[in-house]
Amino acid sequence: MTAQLIDGKAIAAQVRQQVARQVEARRESGARRPGLAVVLVGEDPASEVYVRHKHLACEEAGILSFRHHLPANTTQTALEALVDELNADNRVDGILVQLPLPEHLDPRPILERILPDKDVDGFHPYNLGRLAQRMPLLRPCTPKGVMTLLQKSGIKVRGLDATIVGASNIVGRPMALELMFAGCTATVCHRFTKDLEAQVRRADLLVVAVGKPGLVKGEWVKEGAIVIDVGINRNDDGTLIGDVEFTPAAERASYITPVPGGVGPMTVASLLENTLYAAERHAPMKAE
Ligand code: NAD
Repeated sequence: MTAQLIDGKAIAAQVRQQVARQVEARRESGARRPGLAVVLVGEDPASEVYVRHKHLACEEAGILSFRHHLPANTTQTALEALVDELNADNRVDGILVQLPLPEHLDPRPILERILPDKDVDGFHPYNLGRLAQRMPLLRPCTPKGVMTLLQKSGIKVRGLDATIVGASNIVGRPMALELMFAGCTATVCHRFTKDLEAQVRRADLLVVAVGKPGLVKGEWVKEGAIVIDVGINRNDDGTLIGDVEFTPAAERASYITPVPGGVGPMTVASLLENTLYAAERHAPMKAE
């Protein structure tokens, strides 16, 4: 079997256009534009690129973006004070603190300080708890993006055996919650899993989010499985590859996401959706 490619770039573009249309409809109804505050601390080059992409995506969708670039020596107290200020600012529907933070800062109290209804990254324990209890409000962007990819590709997941490789708070765990919510039987693998190969071999739907190139061998993929590769790894020549051996996996899978151009573009698209969703809760579109 040769897998059908899931085109994340095209699907993300559709989602972004849909958000732009809804933002415009809000504006025409007299409602204010949604606002996203992005906080970057220090000079991490990769984070600067991510933040720039987020600003451009907001601009394109008609969402206001407020940039806060703080020096690397910012204190925990100063960062918390900025979060408080943004929590109180009525123009701001979503607050995003770009991770990783410099070593001397503890991200957990910062993320927990963001008001849950402005937590557009979906990392607050309240929002993860809502998802765990099948009452999601703001959902973590990358797993939400994976669900959108599956849905827009017409893939029905109810009843599938899903294996998720990687158990981080931002990808693997919420991914398992999303897939359980959608009716999958979810198995989560992590660094202590005894036999990764056996868990991958039984998966009808495989989601890999580890950050180790080639960790999942193509020959482990079940014939006809759906393969979603969240991993982003940089080769020596600067090109990007995922965590799954792409070519042999694509020979066995029914659907597969490429890296780049698969899950990657969906994260920002979900962020825009979340910001719009938060704005609708704070200041709903006015009825005709
Ligand atoms: P992380 O380092 O926080 O978590 C990695 C997880 O992999 C951990 O749960 C760990 O236990 C598990 N793991 C490590 N070695 C393993 C092994 N040998 N077998 C099974 N599990 C193992 O990483 P993260 O933040 O979840 O990111 C994972 C990958 O996804 C990275 O490549 C990252 O760049 C990428 N990512 C992509 C997007 C996107 O937008 N596409 C978003 C977030 C992360």
